[in-house]
Amino acid sequence: MTIPTITLNDGFTIPQLGYGVFKVPAAETEKAVSEALEAGYRHIDTAAIYGNEEGVGAAIAKSGIARDELFITTKLWNDRHDGDEPNAAIAESLEKLGLEQVDLYLVHWPTPANDNYVHAFAKLIELREQGLTRSIGVSNYLVEHLERVVSETGVTPAVNQIELHPAYQQRDVVAWAADHGVGIEAWGPLGQGKYDLFGMPAVADAAAAHGKAPAQIVLGWHLQKGNIVFPKSVHAERLRQNLDVFDFTLTDAEIAAIDSIDSLDGSGRVGSHPNDVN
Ligand code: NAD
Repeated sequence: MTIPTITLNDGFTIPQLGYGVFKVPAAETEKAVSEALEAGYRHIDTAAIYGNEEGVGAAIAKSGIARDELFITTKLWNDRHDGDEPNAAIAESLEKLGLEQVDLYLVHWPTPANDNYVHAFAKLIELREQGLTRSIGVSNYLVEHLERVVSETGVTPAVNQIELHPAYQQRDVVAWAADHGVGIEAWGPLGQGKYDLFGMPAVADAAAAHGKAPAQIVLGWHLQKGNIVFPKSVHAERLRQNLDVFDFTLTDAEIAAIDSIDSLDGSGRVGSHPNDVN
């Protein structure tokens, strides 16, 4: 099985499908990530705030997989945007991960009430120059935040990691990203199981037509749209199922039917609004 890659605006590539570890308890993370690596995942998405970077690092170390075959992302937490705090934060993350460099470092949330997201991204530019991260990006940025970052730093983030699933497609942010060469990473790609996505006819009918599970259909929809995804599961069977998504192609009509699940008014959001997280 070959996982496709996406070329980022800085020339580096990222596996389009990975494994996310949000809410994987610290004590279970080494086992879960080891299973994911064993199954064939090579891209792991973690964050300082998840409290499980050490588990990710332990699994990497035990795997024996060459560093250049892995793609590891972590994120700067909201209370560390100011001054030189980002330098200390990435040093701590690298120590926990047992790595000299991450492949991608993200500002986790813009925290607009603190008005320090431009500074945080400017610090990431420095961290990249120091070789501590290969690529840099943002997460949960709205168009207004992206525009300020680009105009004030002159650097376009490689990715924006945003909540994105059929009921909440953030079309304005996605269109802006396409225009500016920013990769879209879809978090909560399966809607975090918070609404009956798998029972919706657009998903269920496509699942029946292709002989796949509904989760696989939703992941296929993301992949065909060009989104980067890293669904989370701690169950070995689902973890493998989520990788087995490259043997079918949704028709234009099936894609359009899933597109139409979007509430369009933002009411399909299952996580926090970026302007409310500070
Ligand atoms: P998700 O949409 O991947 O949902 C995960 C849930 O879906 C699991 O707990 C499980 O209940 C279910 N599931 C997974 N595979 C399944 C399958 N094959 N069949 C049936 N059910 C299945 O949501 P997520 O974990 O929140 O998002 C994925 C990753 O995105 C996270 O692990 C994390 O790395 C990242 N993330 C980032 C942010 C951010 O602010 N940047 C926020 C949330 C998540």
